[in-house]
Amino acid sequence: MWRTWSGTQEARPRRIAAPSGTAAVAAAVRAAAEEGLRVRMVGSGHSFTGAAVTDGVLLSPTGLARLRGVDAEAGTVTVEAGMPLCDLNEELHARGLALANMGDIAVQTAAGAVQTGTHGTGRDCGGLAEQVVGMELVLADGSVVECSADRESALFEAARVGLGAFGVVTALTLRVEPAFLLRAREEPMRLEEVLERLPQLRAENDHFEFFWFPHTGRTNTKRNNRVQGPAEPLSPLRSWLDDEFLSNTVFEGVNRLGRRVPAAIPAINQVSARALSARTYTDASYRVFASPRRVRFVETEYAVPAEALPEVLAQIRRILDSGRHRIGFPIEVRFTPADRVWLSTAYGRDTAYVAAHVYRGMPYADYFRELEAVFTAAEGRPHWGKLHTRGRGDLSAAYPRFEEAMAVRDRVDPQRRFANAYLDAVLGA
Ligand SMILES: Cc1cc2nc3c(=O)[nH]c(=O)nc-3n(C[C@H](O)[C@H](O)[C@H](O)COP(=O)(O)OP(=O)(O)OC[C@H]3O[C@@H](n4cnc5c(N)ncnc54)[C@H](O)[C@@H]3O)c2cc1C
Repeated sequence: MWRTWSGTQEARPRRIAAPSGTAAVAAAVRAAAEEGLRVRMVGSGHSFTGAAVTDGVLLSPTGLARLRGVDAEAGTVTVEAGMPLCDLNEELHARGLALANMGDIAVQTAAGAVQTGTHGTGRDCGGLAEQVVGMELVLADGSVVECSADRESALFEAARVGLGAFGVVTALTLRVEPAFLLRAREEPMRLEEVLERLPQLRAENDHFEFFWFPHTGRTNTKRNNRVQGPAEPLSPLRSWLDDEFLSNTVFEGVNRLGRRVPAAIPAINQVSARALSARTYTDASYRVFASPRRVRFVETEYAVPAEALPEVLAQIRRILDSGRHRIGFPIEVRFTPADRVWLSTAYGRDTAYVAAHVYRGMPYADYFRELEAVFTAAEGRPHWGKLHTRGRGDLSAAYPRFEEAMAVRDRVDPQRRFANAYLDAVLGA
């Protein structure tokens, strides 16, 4: 049995294999085809949707986790698909390199993160898929293909955020930069003030985001900006106190209390929001972007046109004010510029991401359904790895290049060797 980090999905595959190279992946795909079994490679199981679930052959990524090479002149690195991002970060750092942008955590595999369109926040640089310049894939017939903007370009554009539907990714070539420092400034701010100053906060900062505490008008803002130095990391004690003890141990306790006494959640949120104090530190980029998240939750996230954000938040506030839900987890708001990746949630538009979380074991379906109606009315696109109920009909209308991507899928996987129930729902059977 395989299950996701959040416990939302389980798989009972016919068998599990851990191929240790591209040829072994190709052999596993061919063998599955001969037996009439479906195939999926999983990442670290950090999707909330059933994207990675299979009833056939589950390919584990553990044997595909090496750095293949660095092309200093081109400013790229090639990594095997199953390398965890945290290992990639260390490998890059040791060579004086870094990813330009990334999400909140770094335990996902490189391919797993890219395949669902994992993103952070940024004024100039978008999600991980936008940083991918080449991919090696094993297709349904067991053939190995390299693709990029100049080679098999339609396959490249469709399969970059491809949910594993186009083939098993065996390696990724990513654009990298010289290692850089980020100065992080975290500061509580009223939601009204954030919204009033939003254009300026977005324009003046390399990476701006905020966390809104439901049932309150309070947020915690984060501004990360590139600086020359010197590095001034948090002391080990402060780092442990804030990022481990308060953000995980105490936050877990607070959520347990809220689960036992939901009526107390608004008051708890007021205290939590006030307990935060401003802090500033400067550290290697990847240590600022990502931090440990040990408190388990379920999540939905939608990408909406950036200009729709104030109205979307106003509608969410109405839902929270209705008293129908008691939500202890902050709502996270991030931004990315438009990109050109066909199935990326930021395709063709300046994007705001709104993510809602609910502590494990608490009811979430009605809350997420109400939020989804708001996001859908704003022409939102659901994160492929986070809970939603949209199907192919809606998604085809939401993505201008959707049908072109599906034509590529018909060409490279006509028998749906890589399908599962989730892909049947979102891409069609
Ligand atoms: C605590 C937490 C924090 C998160 N933070 C963020 C965030 O900041 N930003 C954000 O955008 N998302 C975030 N996510 C979502 C997460 O980044 C995505 O769901 C991501 O896809 C998970 O990567 P994974 O390695 O666990 O892949 P999995 O969830 O295991 O797989 C994801 C998909 O990729 C496919 N896949 C994996 N490997 C391959 C391969 N080699 N070839 C083909 N297909 C493959 C799988 O079949 C599946 O369809 C977070 C999730 C959690 C639980």
